[in-house]
Amino acid sequence: MRIIKSVPQLRKALAAFRRQGRRIGFVPTMGYFHAGHLQLMRQAKKAHEVCVVSLYVNPTQFAPTEDLAKYPRDFKRDSSMARKENVDILFMPTDNDIYPKGYLTYVDVKSITEGLCGHFRPRHFRGVATVVAKLLNMVSPDVMYLGQKDAQQVAVLKAMVRDLNFATTIKVVATVREPDGLAMSSRNSYLSPQERHEAVVVYKALIMAKQGIKQGERSAKRLIALMEKMITQQSSGKVQYIACVNANTLEPVTKLSGEVLLALAVYMGKTRLIDNLTVRV
Ligand code: AMP
Repeated sequence: MRIIKSVPQLRKALAAFRRQGRRIGFVPTMGYFHAGHLQLMRQAKKAHEVCVVSLYVNPTQFAPTEDLAKYPRDFKRDSSMARKENVDILFMPTDNDIYPKGYLTYVDVKSITEGLCGHFRPRHFRGVATVVAKLLNMVSPDVMYLGQKDAQQVAVLKAMVRDLNFATTIKVVATVREPDGLAMSSRNSYLSPQERHEAVVVYKALIMAKQGIKQGERSAKRLIALMEKMITQQSSGKVQYIACVNANTLEPVTKLSGEVLLALAVYMGKTRLIDNLTVRV
């Protein structure tokens, strides 16, 4: 595995692979790898000759009040984990490579960035779309691998790739979970043992809602109320939002039909956890 830190070096290495006719799978990440990241790397490696992973904690997707400074980082551990997955290139650009002095250009995906997490993190997806657009221009992968865990991010980046004609296909990888169901996340490392114990309620609420739908419940309002009740009764978690939306457009639904995304964000202490499930009604 090569660790590459500069854009010209990256382009040179990738051009050599391309001359040999090799296809490139790309996994953008913010590091502090867990089994979710590794699953994306494995799928990319399985399907393509070359797997490129980027590791960059992108400042423009954090609000000034958020956890940029304390976001977990362990480059040594990450590089050894990526090496074990036979990643070909671990690309670790610096802030100066990505946002050099005088940087002016941002990618703003409209409407689907306004609900769900976007409502509470108003500039978050602008930062995500901008950095991923830049990374796609640097890597030019055949396929980019994204996790379903960040369902709104997937929808935003699909729209961006479509609207801006990026020559990349997106593959979505199912959410990897802890044995008790908690979705893997780099931010889980913030949880105290008690918060970690209680955090499983986020997934339990989604499963309960899915079962409710299977048994015939079609009212989004009633499902949301049930999930909220479960979370507040069984944990000290504070619900930021619970939503039932169309899985493709992310528009809220009142009466469930078609492909529905159940999505929520819950604060366990100071840690914000997100999770989601899609249900075909
Ligand atoms: P991050 O480093 O948190 O920005 O995540 C990098 C990529 O890994 C994104 O596409 C995420 O959606 C994906 N990812 C994060 N957690 C999981 C998980 N538990 N299961 C599957 N993919 C995940």
